[in-house]
Amino acid sequence: MRAAPTILHLDMDAFYASAEQAAKPSLRGKPVVVGGLGMRGVVATASYEARRLGVHSAMPMAQARRLAPNAAYLVPRFALYRTVSDQVMELLGRLSPLVEPLSLDEAFVDLEAGGVADDSASARLVGEQLRTVIRAVTGLSGSVGLAGSKMLAKIASEEAKPDGLLLIEPGTERELLAPMSVRILPGVGPATGDHLRRAGMTVVSHLTEAGEAELVRLLGKAHGVALHRMAQGYDDRPVVAERDAKSVSVEDTFEVDLHDRVRVRAEVERLAARCVQRLRGAGRSGRTVVLKVRRYDFSTLTRSETLRGPTDDPTVVREAAARLLEAVDTTGGVRLLGVGVTGLADFTQEDLFAQAAHAEQAAHAEHAAEDPEGADAVPDEREGPAGEATGAESRKSEETSASRRWPAGHDVRHDVHGHGWVQGSGVGRVTVRFEEPWTPPGRVRTFRVDDPALRPADPLPLVRDGEDYSSWPASLPKSLSGPGPGEGDESRP
Ligand SMILES: [Mg+2]
Repeated sequence: MRAAPTILHLDMDAFYASAEQAAKPSLRGKPVVVGGLGMRGVVATASYEARRLGVHSAMPMAQARRLAPNAAYLVPRFALYRTVSDQVMELLGRLSPLVEPLSLDEAFVDLEAGGVADDSASARLVGEQLRTVIRAVTGLSGSVGLAGSKMLAKIASEEAKPDGLLLIEPGTERELLAPMSVRILPGVGPATGDHLRRAGMTVVSHLTEAGEAELVRLLGKAHGVALHRMAQGYDDRPVVAERDAKSVSVEDTFEVDLHDRVRVRAEVERLAARCVQRLRGAGRSGRTVVLKVRRYDFSTLTRSETLRGPTDDPTVVREAAARLLEAVDTTGGVRLLGVGVTGLADFTQEDLFAQAAHAEQAAHAEHAAEDPEGADAVPDEREGPAGEATGAESRKSEETSASRRWPAGHDVRHDVHGHGWVQGSGVGRVTVRFEEPWTPPGRVRTFRVDDPALRPADPLPLVRDGEDYSSWPASLPKSLSGPGPGEGDESRP
């Protein structure tokens, strides 16, 4: 807990859905749902328009479709999101050596460690500039929370959403937290939340009033004590740069789902080797090996095995990962694989994979991934299962094959009509809307799925040519440089 609000939390607003709206002019202002479109698919991100209809992250896709039948339903384009994420993280890295990414679109930044802010006024100025620069560079909005601790900075950015900034002045934390739901505190999930509610505690002030002894009685020593501290606004966790993290993990998202079990095994081996390389590079060893598998329908599961002692032995990690894989059903296809090693099993360290077990975070836990360039492989590997089925069944499998080859929302290029995106496919046809991030909403045309003039394409950048922000934060382009620190801080809302 520090005396100045110099811990910044940035969270991009409805990240995947906003990126899709920026890329697709016809979807701006409309409900957009990004996620797994298969039977067991879940919502990764809903645009604010879709949220108003009751759709939210981690909701089963079928339920979302009932609530928002007219929304656009799109398959995530991680290559695009990663590109934007890299731009955002690069900007954050200019502010401080201590940047702790939590997911593709979310990170803590220690402004004091970066020497860019040491009081409320300077922190607010940096936060406002950051939001402006992010919008200019990426075309998207992010919300910023500033506070004296990570917990409050994250709460602040949540309160600031969408497209806002909230600074919590040190000293006002308790008052601010008092009326909030207990669920905003880290570590209070649905189960603990229910437990507290049955004891009559629904808001944070109930926790401080109950006192530490009562919380310990209800939740046990460690959890009770920690919760009591957090309810009073105490949180001393430092911002930890990735290199200092207590877990090391690597993952790959595949542009084309992997169906071949042998290939899946080989990828896991490769990831295990890369993970150990990173682990050794950081001079660390770990005790628990974690495997993460995201399936074709976006359902994600993690499996872990704890060894007798810490290791950085590639064979040990590889074999553990292989054992974990054997227990996982990968029929239907694999979209993402990850291998991680967690160091000390410290409860303060919520490792990325554990978080990813929740569907919502699963959709966000992409920042460690590297993108295999596999566009050329699409037609070959997207073939549906070879079936001798006839009639309805064979038509169904054709449609599955078409929707895999032409995933809804993905980019295409047509020899005559140019760049567009797949609006839908089925019954041997694919419907494409031809528009680019900087054009007006475009026209829709329909083609045969095997039209030789139509090809999958790479995403276009969301911003074509902006101003030069390369010297920020040392200096700003003209349009951005308003009153500097000390001249007009109070005038900045
Ligand atoms: Mg976000």
